[in-house]
Amino acid sequence: MIDLMQWVKRESIRGIEMPFTDGQFDFATDGAAMIRVPASGNYGTHKITKQANEWFSKEREYQTLSVKMPKKVACHDCEGKGKASRKECRECKGKGEVFLNNDFHEYDCQCQSCGGDGEIITPGGDDDCENCSGKGKYWPRYTRVEFLGLHIDANYLAKIIDLPNLVVSADTGEQYLYFKSGDAVGVIKGMRQ
Ligand SMILES: [Zn+2]
Ligand SMILES: [Zn+2]
Repeated sequence: MIDLMQWVKRESIRGIEMPFTDGQFDFATDGAAMIRVPASGNYGTHKITKQANEWFSKEREYQTLSVKMPKKVACHDCEGKGKASRKECRECKGKGEVFLNNDFHEYDCQCQSCGGDGEIITPGGDDDCENCSGKGKYWPRYTRVEFLGLHIDANYLAKIIDLPNLVVSADTGEQYLYFKSGDAVGVIKGMRQ
């Protein structure tokens, strides 16, 4: 069973934070990848784009995928423990900015302690580390895997690599990886070289 929530963006932007239904199918996308499965009736209705319609309706030649995943690196947020907690930054009290003044003027300036995030992540605690999903190791963003003339982010490849009966089709011109597993089909955007 494919967890569609793994295919959406958690931050609520442009209405792609939840899977949706269009006709016979459920879709989930984060803007860089999209998956389609038979409709479950669990989601609200939303229209897919004309381009997405073309992706899914075109006939393609598929092949099995054999690719070696790159090594993960230890997560710095949790120091490899898998647990990390967010705390409000003490210096800026969560604002991300600090107020400074000198003899001439006064100004707000990005907080050096938290880098402007307003929060400090410390290893340990009870919560799963968000950066590595509690695994302690992760692929840094943009870790690319090259195969079939494509460059695909390892974090996306990891979502499909263990799907049953996975087959893929590479569009090297557009740099899109199409995939199929049972009645699920999807597309992952490649990374520009
Ligand atoms: Zn701060
Ligand atoms: Zn971590």
